[in-house]
Amino acid sequence: MSYCTQCGAYAGDEAWRRYCRKCFAEQKRQEETSLRERNYELESQIDDLLAEVRRLREKEEIRHVTDVKRVQALLQLCHPDKHGGSELAKSTTQWLLKLKTMLGPR
Ligand SMILES: [Zn+2]
Repeated sequence: MSYCTQCGAYAGDEAWRRYCRKCFAEQKRQEETSLRERNYELESQIDDLLAEVRRLREKEEIRHVTDVKRVQALLQLCHPDKHGGSELAKSTTQWLLKLKTMLGPR
């Protein structure tokens, strides 16, 4: 005969029983809830990782088709000082600098 370790109620004739039916069901319910929460957490982590993989792939594709030395050359060619400070030269320089940052160190 055993008694519930949770509420002290009669748990059953078998000595190995640790919980009464009610507490056992509650225990299971809590386990399921925490598994569901963990599952949800893991699914959202997988989504984040897949997004990161996609981002890295795109970056890698850009790296693949873009030579950082070419970007450097384009930066020199379109320097605003060489184009009377034109808006097009400024915005293109900004874009190229962004691209250079994206390419990062090889
Ligand atoms: Zn109980």
